[in-house]
Amino acid sequence: MSRADDTGGTAERQVLLNPGPVTLTPAVRAALGAGDWCHREPEFAALTRHLNERLVAIHGPLDGFRAVTLAGSGTAAVEAMLASFAPASSATLVVANGVYGERMGAMLRAQGRPHRVLTHAWTAAPDPGAITAALDDVANGGDGPPLTHLAVVHHETTTGRLNDLDAIGRLCRERGLTLLLDAVSSFGAERIEGEAWNLGALAATANKCLHGAPGLSFVLARRDLFEASGEGCGSVYLDLRRYYEAQHRDGFSPFTLPVQVAFALDAALAEHAAGGGWEARRQVYLERAARIGRALAGAGVQPLIPPEESSAVLRAWCLPEGRGYAELHDALRDDGFVIYAGQGDLARSIFRIAHMGDIRPDELDRLCRRLPALLARGPA
Ligand SMILES: *Cc1c(COP(=O)(O)O)cnc(C)c1O
Repeated sequence: MSRADDTGGTAERQVLLNPGPVTLTPAVRAALGAGDWCHREPEFAALTRHLNERLVAIHGPLDGFRAVTLAGSGTAAVEAMLASFAPASSATLVVANGVYGERMGAMLRAQGRPHRVLTHAWTAAPDPGAITAALDDVANGGDGPPLTHLAVVHHETTTGRLNDLDAIGRLCRERGLTLLLDAVSSFGAERIEGEAWNLGALAATANKCLHGAPGLSFVLARRDLFEASGEGCGSVYLDLRRYYEAQHRDGFSPFTLPVQVAFALDAALAEHAAGGGWEARRQVYLERAARIGRALAGAGVQPLIPPEESSAVLRAWCLPEGRGYAELHDALRDDGFVIYAGQGDLARSIFRIAHMGDIRPDELDRLCRRLPALLARGPA
């Protein structure tokens, strides 16, 4: 598909139902072309400070938190958070129940930071009993340095599961563990608590629930984490204290930020606020999920995990017996819809539909007619 025929005019456009990047609204797309600024001039410094302030306010009150913005996708923000805040002299417990949780374990391994990974089946919820047992084991003299940090994914996009952060966060509070949260696919659309979850830092991106363009990501952290001298960061580019120092001193960044992507994020944040903030966005996603869910239920398609355990942002659906992902993907793509495959062992058994971005009512109607028509037809 050419890039030019996708400008949101009257012609049918491509609608992205993958978990980011999302279909941009006309205002956000227009902002990308707003002009050429030097990132070392005061107007861009002012924009950076403005973005950081808005980002901290979205899930307010996150008292005592500050944001820093960096160039890179969500993975860059997660890796920067771990490189900057996972300690070298004590250990981080990674609770993993999908691709993104396991990736945090791989990052800590690559960084040489002490950690343990508590793995779960991808379709399973994190098990508070197993987390408690892992913490007790170390506290009672099991191998390795004491556990002081816990890293987990909020919305595990692998399966659409919204992990129960009230339970995990309560444990972090009780045990005095600093929570490091991958909120890449939940920030801006699911509830996030600072105090109650003992949150130390979270990582997220412009181009998922905030509906910005890809290229900028950000980390929110408690001010004391940014200001602690730290134990050294295993990275120069991803050292968040450098960003904090520069962006919160005069607004400048240590490295070039994608200026036009920042314009787009500014426009996206304005739309997010005007629409009613994260709760309103969550509601929009839930309505889309309910419509799509009814259409799929009509074709006998089952959800991978119970809807009440899923995020509003994305749902995973079981492919009917004998049906392949590729044929469904290709048929929908011909109709202008891009869905997403499962990963790993789920690649052959599920498909995923995200509810983010600019999806017009007529497009949702068309999708909800096409899905059952394609899936109820039986194997070709
Ligand atoms: C999308 C996503 C990421 C990061 O992916 P990028 O491709 O680097 O933007 C990390 N964690 C979760 C939970 C995600 O959904």
